This record gives sequence, C-alpha cells and structure tokens, in this order.
Amino acid sequence: MGSNEFDNLVLGLAEFIRRDDRYPYPELLRYALNKLALEVTAVTYPRTLTGLLALLEKPVKTWYPRRLLPKEFDSDFGLLYEGVLSEEASRYLYEELLDRAKLPEFATASTKQMAIENFPFKKILERLQELYSNDSDFERVQQEYVLLRRFLIENGYTTPAQLRKVFSKTRHIDIQEVGDLYEECQEEEACWNCDRCGPLFKKYGKLRGIKPSACNDHRQNLPFIRQITWKQGLRRLKFGIHWRICLPGIPEMRLFNVLKELQSKYSDQLCAIHLYPGIDRYDLQLCFCDKSTWAVDIKDYRSPYNLAPKLTPLFGEGELRYDESFYVIPIQRLQQREDYIEILREQAIKLPSSTHLLSDAVFEERVINKIECLRE
Ligand SMILES: [Zn+2]
Repeated sequence: MGSNEFDNLVLGLAEFIRRDDRYPYPELLRYALNKLALEVTAVTYPRTLTGLLALLEKPVKTWYPRRLLPKEFDSDFGLLYEGVLSEEASRYLYEELLDRAKLPEFATASTKQMAIENFPFKKILERLQELYSNDSDFERVQQEYVLLRRFLIENGYTTPAQLRKVFSKTRHIDIQEVGDLYEECQEEEACWNCDRCGPLFKKYGKLRGIKPSACNDHRQNLPFIRQITWKQGLRRLKFGIHWRICLPGIPEMRLFNVLKELQSKYSDQLCAIHLYPGIDRYDLQLCFCDKSTWAVDIKDYRSPYNLAPKLTPLFGEGELRYDESFYVIPIQRLQQREDYIEILREQAIKLPSSTHLLSDAVFEERVINKIECLRE
C-alpha cells in the first residue's frame, strides 16, 4: 500500500458521493477500503457504513497511516465534510490528482469522467493558444477567449438562449462546446448561486459552497445569495470547471474591476489593463505611461505550502514582456495565517526573488503609488 492507495480512496469517494444510488460501492472505493481495513491500526476500523463515513470526516492524521500519506495532502483535514468531499479532498483531487493526467490502474469510467470534465476546456484553450500564435486574427482570438473565460466565471448557471445570445457570433468558439462545460439541472432541483463562490448545493437543509475556506456563509437572506428559477434547459457549471475556472476567476475579476475603475480615472498614467493576455499566459497586464509594464497572477490557496510549488516565473516573451511581476494573494488568506507570505517566499524555490509576493490590498496600494508618482 503506497500513496497510490490514498489516491484510490479519494477517487473512489469522489465517485461514491456523486452517485445517487450508493450501492454497490464503486469498484475503486471497495478496493481502497479493503486495503484500508488492513492498514488502519490507530483506531478500530468501523464495521458499518455510518461508522466508516464518520471516520472519514475526522482529520486524516488521526487515523490514516502517516507513512502512506502523500505530502501534498494537508492531514489536518478529513476526506469528507458533512457528507460530501471536504475542501482539502476536492483540492487534492482536482489540483494534484486529476492534473497529473495519470490515473491509477483501477480508475473506472466514472472516475475518468471526472478527469475528462476539464478536458473540453483544455482543448479549447490549446486550440486558441495555437491560433493566437499562428493566425493574423489573433486579436479576435484573444477577445473571444476573454469572453468565454469571463462568461464561465460570471455564469454559474446558464440557458441555451443565453448561450446563443453570447456565442452566436464567435468565430473560434462553438456554442455547443461551451454548453458542454455545463450540465443540465433537474426540474425539481433547488438551484442557488453565491456571487462569491458560484453554484451552491443543499446538504442537511443548509446551502453549501464548494470552497468553505474562502466563502462559508450562505444564509438564504444574504444579498449575494440568489435562488435561480428553474426553466427548461437550465444548466449548471460542471464541478471540475467550477473548481478550476470559475472559483479562481472570482478574485481575478474582482482585482480587474478595481483596477479598471482606477484606470478610468487615471487613464493618462495607467494606459491599459489586459485581461488574460496571450490567451492566459498570466492574469493581468498593466501598462503605464512611462512604458513600464507589470504582470500579475492571482492565486487563492488556503495553504502556502500547497501554493508554493505552483509558483514559477511568469511568461515574459514578446508582447508579454514585463518590468515587474507579481503574485497576488487575496488578503483573507493572509488574515487567516500571519506567516503566509514568509512561508511562500521560503518554499517557492522556482521563483526568482524579483517576483513580488503580496496581498491584493497591498498590490492596489502599489498601483495607486505608481499612478501618483507618474502624476507628479
Ligand atoms: Zn459563497
């Protein structure tokens, strides 16, 4: 039993939780649980499904053999939380496991399906990147990419009519392939959306988001919580797209909107802001009137240890060249953990020291300072 077994357990659980009909267990989960029963010695292995589900909610470090835990999983967390995959397990699944593009040998069709959910977007992205570098129409390619990306961030739910309206004139993106990033909602389903974290689901009578560490208050009377009225053809973002595109996009768009507002006031100093330049080489490019350029990437990770290995120098060739580069972290993350930036700096070994690491609040101040210097 190696960390492969842990991966099987996470994949099997993800599949198990997705199914309405819980029996029989997915083959992968049964296999992982059999292995687990032999290895768990720290606690008495539960005899019932209820007992097992309760165990899976406990911090992994209290029951899972430590020597077999992958270092990328934060073992202070359980695998389940209130009956669904915990945030840490979802993160591990989507950012570590499915990203490796190498699934364990026991991966079933349904597990592969989860991995595959992100492929259509990757396919669009790769196609547009290719077109961007080879086509004289590159400006249009870029525009259409931004249109798609913003659409996925801002529309957790959509309808065929809305898709037709937005994508009927796109030359490089097909309506059908955008529709495939969504799944159909059932008629009797209660559909809710949080403006801060996207589509919600109901569990034990309460609304829940998919990233509680970033957004966890979903009382129905709050102004940013909306019920979506069901109508024929209503579609909701697929989980993988929600996790990988929509969620990270929310702080990206927030910062973009703040900067856009600054730019509208001080367009003589801050001349242009490009969103996802070069088909998403990084998040934002700021061009100042002294011809200096800043490149920005926004990263919203709970743990600096998980984020650090993902920080690499931002791409800076051709039109994407820059004078300063920044990784920007939503300030809530730094409030949750005081030594966040210190740890990040220490652990991000692939990052040159010239790349700035700071909060969105501090970054906004830097931009304002720069504008003020240029106004003098
Ligand atoms: Zn929320």
